Amino acid sequence: MQGRIYTKQKCFECQKSLEPGILKYIENKGFLQCPEHPDITWAGPCEVRFGRKHHKRFKSVKEAERHLNHIRYQADNNKGGFDQREWAKNQPLSFLSLREKFVTLKETQSISSKQVQHIKRVLDEAGKSWDYMQIKEITEGEIDDFFLIDHGVGNKTLANWKTVLHDFWTWIVRREKRRSKIEMPEFPEIKYELEMKKIVNMEDQQYIIEEVKRISWEDNPRIWLGIRLMAWYPKVRPGEMLDLREGHVNYKDNWIVFPDPKEKNKPKFIHLLPEHSELIQKIQSMVPSALPEMYFFRHLKTKSGVKAGVKFGPKVFNKWWKKACKNMGIDGVSVYPGVKHSTVTALGKIMSPEEIQHDVTGHVSDAFKRYFLPDVKRAIIASRKLTEMQAGQHLVNISDHIKSAK
Ligand SMILES: [Zn+2]
Repeated sequence: MQGRIYTKQKCFECQKSLEPGILKYIENKGFLQCPEHPDITWAGPCEVRFGRKHHKRFKSVKEAERHLNHIRYQADNNKGGFDQREWAKNQPLSFLSLREKFVTLKETQSISSKQVQHIKRVLDEAGKSWDYMQIKEITEGEIDDFFLIDHGVGNKTLANWKTVLHDFWTWIVRREKRRSKIEMPEFPEIKYELEMKKIVNMEDQQYIIEEVKRISWEDNPRIWLGIRLMAWYPKVRPGEMLDLREGHVNYKDNWIVFPDPKEKNKPKFIHLLPEHSELIQKIQSMVPSALPEMYFFRHLKTKSGVKAGVKFGPKVFNKWWKKACKNMGIDGVSVYPGVKHSTVTALGKIMSPEEIQHDVTGHVSDAFKRYFLPDVKRAIIASRKLTEMQAGQHLVNISDHIKSAK
């Protein structure tokens, strides 16, 4: 006869003499037994195995026996043999029958058919793992395992799946908590990047930067300068900007070097427009000259516990940017997307993606590996286009900045 009942329990008499001590199923006795030691029996937790796919756990051998006899009967009376799917469908508490019921219910609720399709797709996917299991057999372990499978989707999608499964279980617990004592399982935490970074248009960007200048110049003109430079040179990351040292700017040949950029092992250069180089030099010379190894973006006055000469912390640019945004009634944009992503997005109107990649952001795609060495002329033309574009939105006169600073 097909099908067996198994247990992990072993005969301890056999194990004393290092024998495996497997307890065998004896048909219709309500227990498993050691063939060598008939008085060693087991009637507790066990598993029915029927065919290669059908495994089901039970609390007692008696319950397991009833199930085994039931599926044997089904298999014998069904020409195609035992249909696991049909079996699961007939089990009111199998994952399969519950998920089908849940989708039917959702179809009657006032949600779009697109949403219903989404719910169905997620439950179909989960069904590949759980359809033939009873709902109470699916607990934290099974749920964690499901999310560990490589489904070929990103974490944002997995988090959406988790929401669907969570709703599904909420419904089950409501239905079954009295009858089947089903409790809400704990779901794993799934981390993902929050929504698209918010950007601003060039006009707002220029106004925000102007506002940063207005509110921070008295405190330290380098706050505005750092933000201004990041908008002009989107290739530079905020962390790299903060690491800039006095000696890294070459005012004669108009470039800045970032010796230790995040993305590569080789130094990163930006080629400055002459007027930008002049601006940096003027701001630099507003305070007594510093040693080349001093951080360029540092506190210039000792204030509220921070000593003069200390490098800006990671939040300084964002703090002033946010303050300016608030004054302008602009919400939810942080400094890096505000200066970099906004600029690059706007540049898309006047430059091709390849030009932006190569000349502005400095990311080299596979298709453009042939331009591997930075082309100074092209980079400068790009910076020129970029400043003109930003100035076109709102006139920024650099010499005015310097004058008003004095
Ligand atoms: Zn034994």
